[in-house]
Amino acid sequence: MISPIANSFDLDQKMAALNLHERLELIAQETVNPVFTTSLGIEDQLITHFIATHKIAIKIVTLQTGRLFPQTLQLLTQTKAHYGIEIHEFYPENHTLEKYIKQRGLNGFYESIQARHACCNIRKLEPLARAISGSDAWIKGLRREQSNNRKTVPFCEHQDGKTQFKFNPLADLDRVELLKLVDELDIPINALHASGYPSIGCEPCTRALKPGEDERAGRWWWENEQARECGLHAAKG
Ligand code: SF4
Repeated sequence: MISPIANSFDLDQKMAALNLHERLELIAQETVNPVFTTSLGIEDQLITHFIATHKIAIKIVTLQTGRLFPQTLQLLTQTKAHYGIEIHEFYPENHTLEKYIKQRGLNGFYESIQARHACCNIRKLEPLARAISGSDAWIKGLRREQSNNRKTVPFCEHQDGKTQFKFNPLADLDRVELLKLVDELDIPINALHASGYPSIGCEPCTRALKPGEDERAGRWWWENEQARECGLHAAKG
């Protein structure tokens, strides 16, 4: 349990002065059952590398939405083998998924923001709730530079009245430094990154970027910018 005298502001300040390895060690020391959720994106691969190579006591989980790119599934297998680690997989509940598909169709999420959120709820948010249950620390690979929606992301945050802290140890990392680190450390990454996909989610909801677009513009591109999050990172413990 996080120390009663600690709060998100203290941890945020502390983390700002540390490197990535030290930030992850601090989270592991200060929290109970910390969980890192990876989407196998390039940011998440960097975090996985540090957890695995330094054997930091943080559980790694991923959400198997059932709509991921084949390249992402291949990277999942490759990453487990490369580091000799377990990445725990969480799946949607069958009955709610079947009900959704019967009512709206397999690709019903294109029809409205409500339909899209319903699909993300079933395939991501509900499995996420199970994945991070019992943990007081949820670690993610968000960076401020990724989009307007993320430009104020702190290193550590939590909601009043909630017990779970959320950590973004890459919040201040820019893409140039990210790519440099991934290259230097020879970290396996998704083959799609080389084809104009800096941010990769479910296959039917991700497209390659056009020149000048921000890193998240290829996600749910048919919606307006403010809506372009799956609700996953706003989920509360
Ligand atoms: Fe469904 Fe698309 Fe959300 Fe994946 S990203 S859960 S396919 S709406």
